[in-house]
Amino acid sequence: MTHDGENIMVILSSPSGVGKTTLTKKFQQKYQSFKISVSHTTRSPRSNEIDGVDYFFVSKTKFEELIKKNKFYEYAKIFGHYYGTLKEYVDKTTQTNDILFDIDWQGTKQLSKFKNLNLIKIFLITDNKQELKKRLIKRNQNTKEEIEKRFNSFDEDIKHWNDYDYIIINKNLEICFKQIEKIIENRKNKSSIFFRKVQ
Ligand code: 5GP
Repeated sequence: MTHDGENIMVILSSPSGVGKTTLTKKFQQKYQSFKISVSHTTRSPRSNEIDGVDYFFVSKTKFEELIKKNKFYEYAKIFGHYYGTLKEYVDKTTQTNDILFDIDWQGTKQLSKFKNLNLIKIFLITDNKQELKKRLIKRNQNTKEEIEKRFNSFDEDIKHWNDYDYIIINKNLEICFKQIEKIIENRKNKSSIFFRKVQ
């Protein structure tokens, strides 16, 4: 992985419905130095999703072709669909920007193998599982079956908290956002890099 050693790579993982996507988008809006890593997936787009912005939506055949050609830094099968991070996309982005990954624990394990990366691994959890289910239903972005799959994966997901540098309990989105900012600022200060804030 080509990397200049200065730009940082933040992984944000969580069980579905904990608020990761909202936080990721909020972060990108506030900090121009950060780009969100746009993954490839074989799942169908939701009504509010845009190809090339939320994901690159591809067929299973195309995805498997990319696997064969060794184009991914990491990929995983989640809820019956493939999700993966393309090498070329990350290499290009990290030349000029910090990057934020919204990936699961399987992808985190794979990225962690690249020891030269300036990775910060953050795991977001909730202390209220029932609230999570309500949020998944309220979000109204998945079929009943998909909601069940996401809810049922909670117990498996949290088993992997130990693979992360920081665990944050998302009780309040604003507080949680500030905690993530603090973690990143600390790392940035260590590298003496100016952390650019969008005014
Ligand atoms: P969703 O279908 O709700 O958008 O995402 C399902 C799960 O896939 C989420 O936990 C998300 O973090 C994860 N995910 C999204 N993109 C990637 C990726 O490129 N690699 C891996 N390993 N997980 C991903």
